[in-house]
Amino acid sequence: MSYIGRFAPSPSGPLHFGSLITALGSYLQAKAQNGKWLVRIEDIDPPRECPDAPALILKTLEAFGLYWDEDVLYQSACSARYLETLHFLLSKQLAYYCDCSRQRISTLLQGQYDNFCRTRHLQPTNKPLAIRLKQTYPVYQFSDQIQGQQQIDRRNAEEDFIIHRKDNLFAYNLVVVLDDHAQGVTEIVRGADLLSITGKQISLYHLLNWQVPNYCHLPLALDQHGNKLSKQNHATPLSLSNVKSLTIKALTFLGQKIPTDWLDASQDQLINWAVMHWNIASIPKTNRQYKIDSV
Ligand code: GLU
Repeated sequence: MSYIGRFAPSPSGPLHFGSLITALGSYLQAKAQNGKWLVRIEDIDPPRECPDAPALILKTLEAFGLYWDEDVLYQSACSARYLETLHFLLSKQLAYYCDCSRQRISTLLQGQYDNFCRTRHLQPTNKPLAIRLKQTYPVYQFSDQIQGQQQIDRRNAEEDFIIHRKDNLFAYNLVVVLDDHAQGVTEIVRGADLLSITGKQISLYHLLNWQVPNYCHLPLALDQHGNKLSKQNHATPLSLSNVKSLTIKALTFLGQKIPTDWLDASQDQLINWAVMHWNIASIPKTNRQYKIDSV
């Protein structure tokens, strides 16, 4: 089977150094295997999005020499397909409506849902309701190519998770699986912040009887307070005036070799060199602080 990888940014702001690590890591892992690399804009949460972000993100990827292989997929254009799955799951009693408040759930052990509404058989009314997946394929462990074997505790694995939100938006955990499957993605390379919900996503592949992709969770770049660099935390946007040195920093963060003559190379030459010398085995597992002002 030929390799298909992807980068799936949410357009909540411009890309930052943390996004560059994910974009570069997923690109190099795909291209080192002569695979395709797709870009998907995960614009399913309008209140958190910036209207300029999608165009800016694509421009930034091009400036870094990270060229995608097929048309960009925008999740905002896929609602009809998502709705079909939602209706299918509801009609097979594999999903149910839930009116539990955030406040109630926050009082539960580890803030994990106790599947309270599973047996209440609520029907949609005027009141906003969430839709949860009835967890029939709990995943207690999986293997990550970078982070190794992962164990998931029972409560977390058996939690009925939200697939459609009370505010009438599709939940990330649903659409990420539907799209990765629809796009034929064979391996998912992304940040380690998503490791803890990967088991939930794998359970959906099992339920829908789909081939589970491989997973590679990259270490995160942290700010001086130990938080993940993120668009919501207003991490410094990538500057397009020093793409080469930022690429060198990202390669170093990923434990990769650096060409000695990179100052004389073009950005495209640098990326090609990085593809040829890519070694996933030398990626460190641990999240590390990254000095923001050096971007
Ligand atoms: N859209 C998510 C983000 O920007 C990434 C989702 C994924 O790679 O599965 O954090």
